[in-house]
Amino acid sequence: MKFGGTSVADPDAIDRLLAIVRRQIDIGARPPVVVVSALSGVTDALIEVARLAEAGDAGPAASALHALRDRHVRVAVAATTESESTVVAAVCAEFDELIGLVHALAVLREVSPRSLDAVVATGEVLSSRIVAAAMADHGIPSAWIDARTVLVTDAEHAAASPEMIETCERAREHVAPVMDAGRVAVLGGFIGATAAGVTTTLGRGGSDYSASIFGACLGASEIQIWTDVDGMLTADPRVVPEPRLVPQLSFAEASELAYFGAKVLHPSTILPAVGKNIPVRILNARRPENRGTVITADGHPVSGELTAIACKRNVTVIDITSTRMLMAHGFLRRLFEVFERFKTAVDVVTTSEISVSVTVDDTRRLDAIVDNLRNFAQVSYEPEMAIISAVGENLRSDPMLFARAVTSLERIPLRLVSQAAGRRNITFVLRDADVADAMRRLHETFFERTVAAGSAGLSGPRRRP
Ligand code: ADP
Ligand code: ASP
Ligand code: MG
Repeated sequence: MKFGGTSVADPDAIDRLLAIVRRQIDIGARPPVVVVSALSGVTDALIEVARLAEAGDAGPAASALHALRDRHVRVAVAATTESESTVVAAVCAEFDELIGLVHALAVLREVSPRSLDAVVATGEVLSSRIVAAAMADHGIPSAWIDARTVLVTDAEHAAASPEMIETCERAREHVAPVMDAGRVAVLGGFIGATAAGVTTTLGRGGSDYSASIFGACLGASEIQIWTDVDGMLTADPRVVPEPRLVPQLSFAEASELAYFGAKVLHPSTILPAVGKNIPVRILNARRPENRGTVITADGHPVSGELTAIACKRNVTVIDITSTRMLMAHGFLRRLFEVFERFKTAVDVVTTSEISVSVTVDDTRRLDAIVDNLRNFAQVSYEPEMAIISAVGENLRSDPMLFARAVTSLERIPLRLVSQAAGRRNITFVLRDADVADAMRRLHETFFERTVAAGSAGLSGPRRRP
């Protein structure tokens, strides 16, 4: 059971979490494992602290840390009774260490990716300690486990990948015995450590991924993602006013949606679940009685329509043109080697005879990539673009869905269009400025021309227009 930042944000949220866990204990055969994010806003705040340290602003960094310490102490005091002094002491000890580390970074004015991981990981260490103590004090037998002793990763800081074999061994060694003893193991999400013990993080939103890694290692019957919306919605609620709930979807659909911007799931969450065929359920911690979204191998689409749409904003399109490409084998290999060398993932690719267009969202190494590509091709790029992905298993069987999607966009200029071999998504690349309009048109076409059955993810199955 993974609880996101808003689901552990304050004492009330922690109370709701305890009630949800208690209910699961009552119905489940084995006690659940609980994975928590940092209290909401804390990861952003810690990244800001690191930025201040890098700028040499030791004073503001220290004040920000004191404010964070006070917030954690307040939440810890409110959430616990008997273990109050122990958990407050643990929180303060974590902050003493962090304040020392940040001071040193501010003196050096240097924050390496490794140091940044050490700073931000504190958020999940703190929240998990508080939640474990709150459980124990409310009659739920629990044990705090430092996730860094279980989740073994490579050394790619801020985007670490799990070493699954090692991690599963450690999960069996440290987590399974806690479950066997009838206790709830509580771990921070998002954080891990290399085999040598250096702290790493899985990338923003990575607590979902931690939960599915632990779930897969421990053979969980279900991986539950408890968050602040009713489940996977037909579109991002920050972009489309009244998205609906998607009750069921397939692993492949969920991966596509997560990869192309549905923030409710970290893009890698599905991977460990697929390997073990474990259903992933997204649930609302404020409305635990709702069924949420269940993600399974086949998904059982409820109608002949699309499943959902997602958007990934602020991407850059790179156009690579070469007359030498004409008929040349090996050109694409050479081209993608450049992206590989600079560790930059390409999201969408379209090709014609003499040009290739790709999108990237990580532009940290863009200049170097463009310079290298210019050794053998003409290159131009355009920032402030966006990707919209319309996803649905039904795209494979109904070509009219594609036609209707394109038609609904009317005069919105499309920069790239692609439909991959799996044919469960259509991808449009367009100007970021047009994305809200395009999302609303697509949403209206596929999800709103039906009998209104509720709002904001509360409606039942969709019907054909
Ligand atoms: P948590 O802190 O629980 O991990 P996140 O903020 O990471 O929560 O993810 C939940 C948020 O994802 C929602 O509040 C919503 O704004 C956003 N979101 C974007 N696209 C979707 C979608 N298709 N369905 C549901 N939520 C979405
Ligand atoms: N706390 C981390 C973040 O904000 C991880 C997570 O919430 O999943 O990115
Ligand atoms: Mg999240």
